[in-house]
Amino acid sequence: ARHFFSDPAEVQALRGALLAWYDRCKRDLPWRALAVMEPDADRRGYAVWVSEIMLQQTQVATVIDYYNRWMQKWPTLQALAQASLEEVNELWAGLGYYSRGKRLQEAARKVVSELAGRMPRTAEDLQKLLPGVGRYTAGAIASISYGQATGVVDGNVIRVLCRLRCIGADSSSPAVIDRLWDMANVLVDRSRPGDFNQALMELGATVCVPKAPLCGECPVKQHCQAWRRNLFGKPPKVPDVEDCGVGDCPLCPPATEPWDSSLGVTNFPRKAAKKPPRVMRTATCVLERRGCHGAPEYLIVQRPSSGLLAGLWEFPSLPLAQDLQEEREREELADHLQAWLGQPVAAKGLRFIGEVIHIFSHIHQTYVVYSLPLDGDVTLDPALSPSRWVTEDEFHASAVSTAMKKV
Ligand code: SF4
Repeated sequence: ARHFFSDPAEVQALRGALLAWYDRCKRDLPWRALAVMEPDADRRGYAVWVSEIMLQQTQVATVIDYYNRWMQKWPTLQALAQASLEEVNELWAGLGYYSRGKRLQEAARKVVSELAGRMPRTAEDLQKLLPGVGRYTAGAIASISYGQATGVVDGNVIRVLCRLRCIGADSSSPAVIDRLWDMANVLVDRSRPGDFNQALMELGATVCVPKAPLCGECPVKQHCQAWRRNLFGKPPKVPDVEDCGVGDCPLCPPATEPWDSSLGVTNFPRKAAKKPPRVMRTATCVLERRGCHGAPEYLIVQRPSSGLLAGLWEFPSLPLAQDLQEEREREELADHLQAWLGQPVAAKGLRFIGEVIHIFSHIHQTYVVYSLPLDGDVTLDPALSPSRWVTEDEFHASAVSTAMKKV
């Protein structure tokens, strides 16, 4: 019971404190205004859906500009359904996790073609009917746009709830995740579910932050077991804020890693150690020619339509085996370029520029960057993947990844 909210009076008090704080302190974000002011229910759901997909793995400050441009360009599901994937990728360029944009557009097409343009109204239907919409996104859309009293659990909510209830077992384990969903569903305010869910997430994003939470300013500290435990310290013992018992509780910190008083409330949540990212090396070449007006132009080629960075454009690139000698690297890259250009490329002509490191979610990628100026015209082989020459401005306006912009 100590890892749950079982006292209705406490639940009521926590809701009230959190909502009052939210009304006072919430950030002014474009999707919040749309979710309140948009009278059309389908448009409202769409506006929240786009924001939720963009906010996955991406900071609010980065998302705002992308969101405004997206909603200006495709204000409705119908408009998005008619867009090309190239346009979607161009607008998404720089936001990362590119399959999100593609999946959003595929799902919009499905709503238009199979559901007569009508957004499903409940979390259950949203999750069942929309590809790419998981439990969290479905709960967020249903509660914020349609007032369904259903909880949400994202990274911010995990942190807040684990601290409120001293949950110190691995927060990615099914036992903990199930308990957090139950808790979110019990806590959510019945009359203002969307605001309550946003308030809980806002608290995690602005007050109950990972490293240095602002407990002194926290509106729910009176309900927070981690805060109380930190305040009272180990001795004297306070029975209701100690661990459950003798190491058989699936939600307490493991007996091997008990409460560390130097960490305070940041003892929670805890995560199992992450798998180290895969290490990759890729040779890439910036091929340059003089365009018809004398300005330099660069060759970009399109990646395959599935897998990492699907459908995006890049300088011709070649994944390398580990521990390849530099000479061999150049030869392999030269062969690869020869296939694109349809003419011999001398490995010695490739000029080494430097290395660019880019961290994808699960890959530590090093781009080994070369350049090669070309004289005369080059005819690109249309049988290969799409490729084109672009000026620097056109490059930046194309659907290219942040990693390629670094290159
Ligand atoms: Fe988080 Fe501190 Fe508030 Fe507890 S008191 S919820 S740890 S900010």
